[in-house]
Amino acid sequence: MTLPFFLASRFVAGEHLDDTLPIVDDLNAAGLHVALDKLGEHVHDREVAAAARDTYIDLIKTLAGRTEHQRNRISIKLSMMGQLIDEDECRDHLRDVLEAAARHDMFVRLDMEGSDLTQSTLDLFEDVYPDFQGYVGPVLQAMLKRTDRDIDRMCELGVSVRLCKGAYAESEAIAYQDMDQIRERYIDYTERLLEHTDYSGIATHDDQLIHATKTYADRHDISPDDYEFQMLYGLRRETQKQMARDGYNMMVYVPYGSEWFPYFSRRLREKKENVWFVLKNLFRS
Ligand SMILES: Cc1cc2nc3c(=O)[nH]c(=O)nc-3n(C[C@H](O)[C@H](O)[C@H](O)COP(=O)(O)OP(=O)(O)OC[C@H]3O[C@@H](n4cnc5c(N)ncnc54)[C@H](O)[C@@H]3O)c2cc1C
Repeated sequence: MTLPFFLASRFVAGEHLDDTLPIVDDLNAAGLHVALDKLGEHVHDREVAAAARDTYIDLIKTLAGRTEHQRNRISIKLSMMGQLIDEDECRDHLRDVLEAAARHDMFVRLDMEGSDLTQSTLDLFEDVYPDFQGYVGPVLQAMLKRTDRDIDRMCELGVSVRLCKGAYAESEAIAYQDMDQIRERYIDYTERLLEHTDYSGIATHDDQLIHATKTYADRHDISPDDYEFQMLYGLRRETQKQMARDGYNMMVYVPYGSEWFPYFSRRLREKKENVWFVLKNLFRS
């Protein structure tokens, strides 16, 4: 069964790039930066993986040519570029994407997927990082127990990290399950990133974590220019704009594309309110 796109439209900007670019312009006009993500994951076909590389390169060119917004960027999933087929081929694709990014002076964020891909994603990142410093950075998930040492490593490199709680169901053996414990880890990791890395992204809609970040930065004379907050398209829209008006860098993660279902279902699993948005859309139609 194919679900109609309008169900996902609260969280996914468009099925096609043409529908999505005007949304990017509107967000930029409201003072928000954007990370565009062409949805898709877990590709098992080499041709599809190569096509994803080409799409990402085109996206870099389109975004760079369209806007003066220096901090717009793309966000990519390595499993879409063949990570599950052949890591060497995936690394070659990633290098091609980063060469385009460096040519157009655009940053590329490597989304983090389920824990089966964490080590491979960080290895691929470390392979390419020496040649593309300033153009690529990983995501770390506070819920994973291993993240403590991954944060140390990224602080050692000084690389920009996106810190999030983690959107994938993970076992108790490798991941904290209790929200208070995840928040406690998140705050500790945020403080380390603010101290030791350049322009990391604090990706959360959680007021407790946003407040803790601002408080720590104020107390330690860390300027709001040295880091950014990040939220997802469609969530806390007024808060996003207000934070930009208040002088914080706010980046909105803008997913688009026809393969929206896995992303959409992760958003529904996360919060009851997200299910409510969808039901409201349904009854409005
Ligand atoms: C920019 C960005 C990129 C991400 N990239 C990844 C990735 O690469 N890999 C990955 O695994 N996960 C990623 N995530 C998802 C992330 O891991 C979490 O699953 C998701 O953000 C939910 O956690 P939260 O901290 O935002 O808040 P939640 O845990 O959902 O909510 C906590 C509290 O925040 C407040 N809140 C949340 N939403 C709202 C709202 N709409 N209105 C009012 N209050 C609200 C409420 O007080 C709520 O109790 C990303 C998230 C963001 C924002």
